[in-house]
Amino acid sequence: MGGRKRRRRVVIHKKRAPPKVFRCPVCEGFPLRMNLTQSGEVTAKCAYCGFTKDFTVNPGSEPIDAYSKLITIVEGGTNV
Ligand SMILES: [Zn+2]
Repeated sequence: MGGRKRRRRVVIHKKRAPPKVFRCPVCEGFPLRMNLTQSGEVTAKCAYCGFTKDFTVNPGSEPIDAYSKLITIVEGGTNV
């Protein structure tokens, strides 16, 4: 007897967008938005204290990379 039923596995693809909202390293407020272009130009803006920072990272970096660089800039006291 044939007729084996093929069960289709339902795979739920939930694409999670990488986080683009971070915590501000200056006031620890939320949200800090990171705008990252393909060429690595970053604009960080805190909606809480109004802190903004423009800097660059390596092209193709993830927002999290830009965020860690921002923390380095802020904690290092680099005044650009
Ligand atoms: Zn802030």
